[in-house]
Amino acid sequence: MSQKFDVVVIGAGPGGYVAAIKAAQLGLSTACIEKYTDKEGKLALGGTCLNVGCIPSKALLDSSWKYHEAKDAFAIHGITTGDVNMDVPAMVGRKANIVKNLTSGVATLFKANGVTSLQGHGKLLAGKRVELTKPDGSVEIIEAENVILASGSRPIDIPPAPVDNNVIVDSTGALEFQTVPKRLGVIGAGVIGLELGSVWSRLGAQVTVLEALDTFLMAADTAVSKEAYKTLTKQGLDIKLGARVTGSKVNGDEVVVTYTDANGEQTITFDKLIVAVGRRPVTTELLAADSGVTIDERGFVFVDDHCATSVPGVYAIGDVVRGMMLAHKASEEGIMVVERIKGHKTEMNYDLIPSVIYTHPEIAWVGKTEQALKAEGVEVNVGTFPFAASGRAMAANDTGGFVKVIADAKTDRVLGVHVIGPSAAELVQQGAIGMEFGTSAEDLGMMVFSHPTLSEALHEAALAVNGGAIHVANRKKR
Ligand code: FAD
Ligand code: AMP
Repeated sequence: MSQKFDVVVIGAGPGGYVAAIKAAQLGLSTACIEKYTDKEGKLALGGTCLNVGCIPSKALLDSSWKYHEAKDAFAIHGITTGDVNMDVPAMVGRKANIVKNLTSGVATLFKANGVTSLQGHGKLLAGKRVELTKPDGSVEIIEAENVILASGSRPIDIPPAPVDNNVIVDSTGALEFQTVPKRLGVIGAGVIGLELGSVWSRLGAQVTVLEALDTFLMAADTAVSKEAYKTLTKQGLDIKLGARVTGSKVNGDEVVVTYTDANGEQTITFDKLIVAVGRRPVTTELLAADSGVTIDERGFVFVDDHCATSVPGVYAIGDVVRGMMLAHKASEEGIMVVERIKGHKTEMNYDLIPSVIYTHPEIAWVGKTEQALKAEGVEVNVGTFPFAASGRAMAANDTGGFVKVIADAKTDRVLGVHVIGPSAAELVQQGAIGMEFGTSAEDLGMMVFSHPTLSEALHEAALAVNGGAIHVANRKKR
């Protein structure tokens, strides 16, 4: 007799594992299918995010930043360090331990919540049945009242630079270098390219980023992207905009990359090349021909605003569906779907998904940019506050960047918070909380903020929206 569950989730990334835990918490019998195994061949839950994405990249970003500080930034505090060295395998090993802790933590959470963890490849058949192909090749058919597809995404590969996992790597390979490459090329100045480029640049690599577009960080507010370009360039990242990679040739331990820019065809040689040109949804062997689930023209599983597919009782969440490819977006979709299965009317606010780039300074925003709002014909008031005027930032010797708050000129409702600077990710979250509750700039300005904190920069930027900042000259007069 085949097993039967209220909910079967395919994929145990931040979309799938969160959905599975929530479903079990709500009293639904739940199984989660995952096939990913670690280097030791053991089932590793947590998906891209925990294994080869958010967490390992942040581990390397933190280690490399500490190295940079010890080497170049401690002296100002009066600290003498002598020679500072980086043991790259130790750094990469620390990252691996963090990953192991977290992925085994998901297995523990599954046990604690009563989620049945099934190892193997899941494929949706007609009639909400799921075919599970186990590691030994045997096949089991599982029946489900509801199926949640959470198969995630994988790096896009481009014909001009095929990944060989030696000289040319994708984001996963770039988390595993055992030595610092002397000349490192990065194709794509997106979030992943900038974060990984920063890691190896801080450790001494000479990093060149080749970006096909003429505009840097197009999704960010222009004031932020300009500041980011200036700062990252100053840190040593050579970011070439309008540079489209057209070919590459690996010669032994190096690769000669060809790209075209405004001056025609160029070549440049690297010791390692990271291809970071985006990610695409994983739907390989996910759907039987008669499953009834449709794929949109860009290859994503087609879903409505509530993540329902074209088949009743089958849902899809996270990177495999439209929208931002972010772990927190995937998780919240998982929760929304499960609560709706239970009959709740849960909605997800897609307008308030924060974006973060974990460079230094961090870059983060929530809501709309000034340019987007103006294009929509919305009149806005803008308040900014530079960290150069923040006592807390000065104490930390971390004064680059600013907070920018954008409010509707008529209603004063906050429509966007954009931060480049220390702890930008945490500050933007405060903006997001306020915006979820419909805060006005005046509301934020009236709140009491602890002193001295970086958060005061958000307070002052909110005050500046209506010309009331205290610690910086106001552009707008009351
Ligand atoms: P995934 O995490 O991709 O998980 C899908 C899982 O499904 C995988 O484990 C896969 O093995 C499994 N699977 C697929 N098909 C099947 C099948 N048929 N049967 C069984 N199992 C299957 N996002 C952030 O929000 N913040 C960050 O800082 C951040 N940093 C990142 C850094 C890097 C280097 C990368 C690559 C990504 C980063 N992301 C970040 C993006 C984030 O990792 C993804 O948005 C997130 O993991 C998507 O979650 P998901 O559950 O949809 O899919
Ligand atoms: P993201 O999608 O945010 O990860 O960013 C990927 C970036 O890679 C985008 O900004 C693309 O413009 C860029 N890109 C894609 N293909 C190429 C290419 N052949 N050469 C240079 N940049 C590219």
